[in-house]
Amino acid sequence: MDANNFKIKFRGVRGSYPVVNPRFSEYGGNTSCVEMNLDGHLIIFDGGTGIIGLGRELTRISRSDNDEQMPRTITILLSHLHQDHIQGLNFFSPFNNPAFKISVIGLTTPDCSLLENLKELVWGKSFPINFSDLSAEIQTHSAVENRKIIINNNSEFAHVVPSEEETKEEDIVISVMKSNSHPQNGVIVYRVSYKGKSVVYATDKESYVGSDKRMALFARKADVLIHDSQYTSEDYLSLTSSKQGFGHSTYDMAIETAQVSQVKKLVFFHYAPNYDDNKLRQIENSYSVKYPNTVCSKEGLEICL
Ligand SMILES: [Zn+2]
Ligand SMILES: [Zn+2]
Repeated sequence: MDANNFKIKFRGVRGSYPVVNPRFSEYGGNTSCVEMNLDGHLIIFDGGTGIIGLGRELTRISRSDNDEQMPRTITILLSHLHQDHIQGLNFFSPFNNPAFKISVIGLTTPDCSLLENLKELVWGKSFPINFSDLSAEIQTHSAVENRKIIINNNSEFAHVVPSEEETKEEDIVISVMKSNSHPQNGVIVYRVSYKGKSVVYATDKESYVGSDKRMALFARKADVLIHDSQYTSEDYLSLTSSKQGFGHSTYDMAIETAQVSQVKKLVFFHYAPNYDDNKLRQIENSYSVKYPNTVCSKEGLEICL
């Protein structure tokens, strides 16, 4: 496997709502979106505002001469349907381009399928375009624990199959873990495995003091763990405005999970919208000294496996 065929790029790292302010320009103010490119297969985690710029790039390349290299098949994996994870989908231009085939996979709530939720929450009454007006070819699937997602060259869309189904070496395999600690319907944590490398995307995941053992097992020995780090422990445990039960972790909780699961690299993600560049720089400096394989995600950061 060469150095460039499993690439991660952070497009939006902010939690809760986007921030537009020069004090936030270094780490970035766009909400959750992480791009992964695996030998030309494009996987996008979450559709926060960070997805908008990525969509613009994809459709621009599509119009240019060398569009051979452009992934026209896209898999979007949604952790859950809170606004900061879907608010960029309306403006993701590949949805309005007939050249694209897009699989959208995510959490199904008890009362509604993913498709019904998307029609209502993203393209329904809150936006002038309906889901049925989109010109891309779109398939939707539920992400559930006893099933896994397969992406390969045999199909233009992702498959969702029983977790015990055999896979081939060239398949991209994505395992699913549901965590109920995020209000109100929980959150999906994904683990992408490809040719011996794996990355775990665990946003909006509230851990426990001493780590979440189930989560640590799911992330065991991953090459990269992208973990919710919305709060400092001081803010999380504040006596006047505790954040316990909000569905987010602290930097210390992310570290604990990374250590118990023995991941090679930990990436902090999904920062509170009031944490400016100064604050995040201080956090990054203090943690990266104590834990060398730990970094803060920021918009534009690329990691190649
Ligand atoms: Zn969030
Ligand atoms: Zn959330």
